[in-house]
Amino acid sequence: MTGIMQLDRVESPESTRPRGHEVTIRGARKSYGRTDALGGVDLEIEAGKFMVLLGPSGSGKSTLIRGIAGIERFDSGSISFGSTPISDDRHHVPAERRDLSMVFQDYALWPHLTVQQNVAYALRRRHLGTAARRANVLETLERVGLSSKVDNYPSELSGGQQQRVALARALVGSPALLLFDEPLSNLDADLRERLRVEISTLTRDSGATALYITHDQAEAFALADEIGVLNGGQLEQLGTPEEIFRRPATRFVAQFTGLAGAFAGRLVGERAGLSRARVGDHELSCTAGPGASAGTRIDLLIRPTATSLVDRENPRLDAIPGVVVDVAYRGRGYEHVVETRYGRLASVFDPRSWSRGGECSIVIDPAGCVAFPATKHAIT
Ligand code: ADP
Repeated sequence: MTGIMQLDRVESPESTRPRGHEVTIRGARKSYGRTDALGGVDLEIEAGKFMVLLGPSGSGKSTLIRGIAGIERFDSGSISFGSTPISDDRHHVPAERRDLSMVFQDYALWPHLTVQQNVAYALRRRHLGTAARRANVLETLERVGLSSKVDNYPSELSGGQQQRVALARALVGSPALLLFDEPLSNLDADLRERLRVEISTLTRDSGATALYITHDQAEAFALADEIGVLNGGQLEQLGTPEEIFRRPATRFVAQFTGLAGAFAGRLVGERAGLSRARVGDHELSCTAGPGASAGTRIDLLIRPTATSLVDRENPRLDAIPGVVVDVAYRGRGYEHVVETRYGRLASVFDPRSWSRGGECSIVIDPAGCVAFPATKHAIT
C-alpha cells in the first residue's frame, strides 16, 4: 500500500495546542526532468481556514500538497507552520512530525484491518489507554455515520463508506492540518455531493486548517473559504470564491471557473463605474480585467449566471438577438445553447424551456462579464 500517510503528531497538551496550522509556502519549486511541476509558488493559509487549490490535470496540485505533507521535497523554497520552519535549506521535519493527516483519492485503507482497526492505527503512537483509544475511535466513526460497520473489512464496504473510514482516520487524532487529495473523484455524483457536505462540516468543526485539491470548479466553489487557481505550476489567483468568480485575474482563471462563451469587441469608455464594450452593433457594460483599457480590442468573457433570455420584442438596446440551438432539462429549469451573431453562448439558464430553433434575445449582466485583451487564438 503505497502513499498511505498515517497520522502522528508532535505531542502537546490539548489546551496549549493551537487549533489549526497557519501555513506559509515561499517560492516552492519542483522539476521532474524538464517538466517544471511547480514554478515558484507562494501561498499562505490562515489558521483554521479551508483552502482549495483548483487546477487542471498536470497543473502541480499533487506536487504542492505532497510537499506540504512531507511525502516529497521541493527542489527549493520553504514551508513553515506558524513560526516553525518545516522544510527549507536547513530543515526537514518528517511527515509524521507535521501534525497533519491526508485523505487520498483511492482511500488507502489497510485491507487486512477492520474499520475500527484502520482508524485506531492512526492513534498508535499516542499514549492513550485502550479504553480511551477505543472511545475516541468509536466516537469518530459515529461522526462519519459508520457505527454499524466498525467490525467490517474495507472490501465489505462501498467506495463512499471506505472514504468515510479514511475521513475518520484523518480526523481521529485532531490534527492541526487536514490535506485532501481529490477525495471525491472516485465516487458517484449523489454520493459525492453528500460526502462533500460532510467533509466541509466535519473539517470546520475540527478547527483544523484544511488544504483540498481538485480539478472540479463546482467542488472548489462549494467548499472553499479561499481558492487558489493553479496553472502550469503557477498560482494565477488567490481569493475568495466570490472574488475569483467576479474578478478573475487572468483569462485562464475565467475560463477554468466557468464561461457561457465569449464575444470579440473593443472597449470604448466608461459609464457609471463600469467599462463599456462595443460588440458589433451593440454596446454592453462589463468589468475590465487586467490589461484591458479604452480603445483596445478585447474578448468579453461571459459567465453563465450573467445571461438571461428575453423575448425578441424586448425593447432593451443591449438585448442581443439569438436562436436557441439546444435545450437541456436541469431539474430547477433548463439550460440553453444560444447562437448569436457574435458567437455561441452555452448554459443559458431559464426556469422555462425555450423551444429549439426558436428566436430569443439575450441580456448580459455586467457583473458576470469581464473584458480581457484580445488574443489571436480562438476564444473559450
Ligand atoms: P496535478 O496534481 O495538478 O495533476 P502534478 O503535480 O501531479 O499535477 O504534476 C505536475 C507536473 O509534473 C505534470 O506535468 C506531471 O506530469 C509532472 N510530474 C508529477 N509527478 C511526476 C513524477 N513523479 N515524475 C515525472 N513527472 C511528474
